[in-house]
Amino acid sequence: MTHVSDTCAELIGTLAAGTPLTHEQYRFLFEHSTAEHYQLAAKEARRVCDRHYGRTVFLRGLIEFTNHCACGCRYCGIRAKNTTVRRYRLTDTQILECCQTGYKSGLRTFVLQGGEDAWYTDERLCSLVSKIRAEFPGCAITLSAGERSRQSYQKLKDAGADRYLLRHETADQVHYAYLHPTPQSYRTRMRCLADLKALGYQTGAGMMVGSPGQTPDCLAADMVFLGSFRPHMVGIGPFLPHHATPFAHEPKGSLDLTIFAAALVRLLLPCALIPATTATASASADGRIRALGAGANVIMPNVTPAVGAQYELYDGKLRSGLESAANIAELTAALEQAGYTVPVSRGDFTDTQGGLYV
Ligand code: SAM
Repeated sequence: MTHVSDTCAELIGTLAAGTPLTHEQYRFLFEHSTAEHYQLAAKEARRVCDRHYGRTVFLRGLIEFTNHCACGCRYCGIRAKNTTVRRYRLTDTQILECCQTGYKSGLRTFVLQGGEDAWYTDERLCSLVSKIRAEFPGCAITLSAGERSRQSYQKLKDAGADRYLLRHETADQVHYAYLHPTPQSYRTRMRCLADLKALGYQTGAGMMVGSPGQTPDCLAADMVFLGSFRPHMVGIGPFLPHHATPFAHEPKGSLDLTIFAAALVRLLLPCALIPATTATASASADGRIRALGAGANVIMPNVTPAVGAQYELYDGKLRSGLESAANIAELTAALEQAGYTVPVSRGDFTDTQGGLYV
């Protein structure tokens, strides 16, 4: 092994032993790691995940409840300026039906994900959350509805929401501004994340890998941010271009690098819930299973009805037809075949590291 290669292996070992790296060390890893380091990180990450969660994979039912969006994220297919997308909003009844179908298939977490849709005032969103809470008292409710005020997050929590996913997207401020036009700002994103955690949500951050303008420095900043913010959940997927966005002709993110980044996050945050994301599955047929092999422990089958085909964030987004009970049973069987167990459980975050996540 060369000196550089040795150093990469040593850095992965250091992280696996529980010592976070510095910005420069992460950058070194992202600049110099090769396939053999990717393999080493994946093996270590799986071992760490086994230690904290065993071979368990938690399922969450993903409900893409609205594709109306006021934002201008330059990467995203449902950005406000994309006039070619047919907009939809599920009714409360449709959403409750999704939960019902999911519940019958063994799902105990429902993730309501949508664009930043002003129609969803606090009153309307809280009313929806309360209905789900009343009908499914034993289930976790996760929201992923973008940036809102602290008061709004508080009301939603009071209405029964348990968790909130809001990816930080990039921890490099210049890169953030390149991906998001004003008035969106890094500062607001960070304020929202801090509010969510302070209010007691199980909070999810995360980023795309290979987004336009991303450098090893940006990824290093992501790792440092994740190490200090310590989210309970981290969503990481490759950037995949969408034809009706300013980034239509940008290359897609590398799946290998995405899985490497996810493995490093597992080493950094041993107790985190890390999904094998839809974008990972969309990038390659074996994306999900490879992500699980590198320490991911969550899968989010899409239980949105057919209208959700309009929730097209990027071209080639997987709509695997997991909506039906039969398909969730098939997914479970495939996971069990691969040596994982799939409990009927909310799959809450558990802090076996002793208070580090507070
Ligand atoms: N509006 C909410 C928000 O911003 O958090 C939730 C919906 S947003 C569409 C969900 C996630 O999709 C984003 O956090 C982003 O990382 C991801 N996403 C959007 N466009 C993407 C693309 N072109 N490639 C990969 N992931 C993408």
